Amino acid sequence: MRTIKSLLITVSLLSGLSSASAAENPLSKSDLGAANSLRERALSDTTPWQLVESLTTEVGARPAGSAGDKAAIQWALREMKRLGFSNVRSMEVTVPHWIRGEAECAVLAPWPLNIPTLVLGGSVGTDPAGIEAEAVMVKDIAALAALPAGSVKDKIVYFSNRMDRTRDGSGYGRGVVVRAQGPSAAAALGARAVVIRSVGTSSNRFPHTGALRYQANIPRIAGFAISNPDADALERQFASGKPVRLRLRSSARELPPELSANVIGEIPGTDRANEIVILGAHLDSWDPGVGAIDDGAGVAIMMGAAKLIGGLDTKPRRTIRVVLFANEEFGTSGSRTYTTAAQAESVRHVLGFEADFGAGPVWRLSSRVNPAQLPVIDQIYRSLAPLKLQRGGNAATGGADLDGLARAGMAILSPDLDGTKYFDVHHTANDTLAQVEPAALQQAVAAYAVSAWLGAQYSGEWQAVTEVKPPRR
Ligand SMILES: [Zn+2]
Repeated sequence: MRTIKSLLITVSLLSGLSSASAAENPLSKSDLGAANSLRERALSDTTPWQLVESLTTEVGARPAGSAGDKAAIQWALREMKRLGFSNVRSMEVTVPHWIRGEAECAVLAPWPLNIPTLVLGGSVGTDPAGIEAEAVMVKDIAALAALPAGSVKDKIVYFSNRMDRTRDGSGYGRGVVVRAQGPSAAAALGARAVVIRSVGTSSNRFPHTGALRYQANIPRIAGFAISNPDADALERQFASGKPVRLRLRSSARELPPELSANVIGEIPGTDRANEIVILGAHLDSWDPGVGAIDDGAGVAIMMGAAKLIGGLDTKPRRTIRVVLFANEEFGTSGSRTYTTAAQAESVRHVLGFEADFGAGPVWRLSSRVNPAQLPVIDQIYRSLAPLKLQRGGNAATGGADLDGLARAGMAILSPDLDGTKYFDVHHTANDTLAQVEPAALQQAVAAYAVSAWLGAQYSGEWQAVTEVKPPRR
């Protein structure tokens, strides 16, 4: 009697202990062991480097709708098959086809100066003869709005706002408002064109492009960017107090839309195969460089991480799906097409990763998960300990391409890429393979591979998340 009773107590104690430890350790010992081996393999795997080298060499620049865009789709299909991914396919996406053309910017007075320039993505061109007008300098849109009525009529508006260098990209989020909204804000007041100080941190003469957003019902005027040192030079001319006259010319134009594609490949899951862990990066790039850090590196990180997971002896429980999105840069067309298609699929997107912030290293692990899943994130974080990451908060935004899925409640796990130097290169002619550091890329792949693998193995449910913050653009 006594023995049976004590046995029963022991059994109930044991079962109580084991369920408590399942809640604290939602990942099995063997899954954690596989995570260690993934991490070690990633740190010596050269596949991601070879991918970004091949993409930037054999395809190069790949702005939406261009021949490079189409070549990138073929490249991605070929490489995903070569790496052994399953269900490799393309998903048609209609994209805008904007042509940059040639651009000129020159100071005519008080002292002549030719300035290297890029028009902002989506800008209209000028008359073939160009524009000559007096320029008015303002810091930002609020300063423009505060000018006396008529101050910028028939003039060129120069925005002097300087972006801050930050590790998490927050300086870009604040700085990019002028690029996106400045042209329409100035046009609404009668300006003829806009020039901005590049939304970048470089001290070289490469100007920084990126999309502007015209407002409906406001005349479209051309937008130009100049580098930080040239912006400094222009501001010295303004500081003289003499009228500053600029000459601007651009042959940018929009052609009819083109077909592009999202490229998709999978490491199929087993008992939870209809739950998707999505690894997103974008295949398109801006045109002045070859899109090595934006976003060839992200493409390589995601393909490299999935390849390593596919090479494990144990197959993942949930399906790992790599999606290389079309046209992130000029309107996120691929993301919008994918999000709509995802709603009609019989699978469920439960956890998302995006790599669109350079070539590493990863410095922090952030998330945006249902609070019930925070213990899983803690355990994933412990598996990443040798990579020496900081533990971030639970307010990650993912990125632009996963925004639609995140808004629908998908959890986000974010190995945060270090953005300290990212905006020295991003969207400039200097975005080349020389900016990718092999060891940093491998460390990033290790962080993504371990997190994605453990996310796919989690024994509980990735619950839906509410309260989504808008992503950084
Ligand atoms: Zn990007």
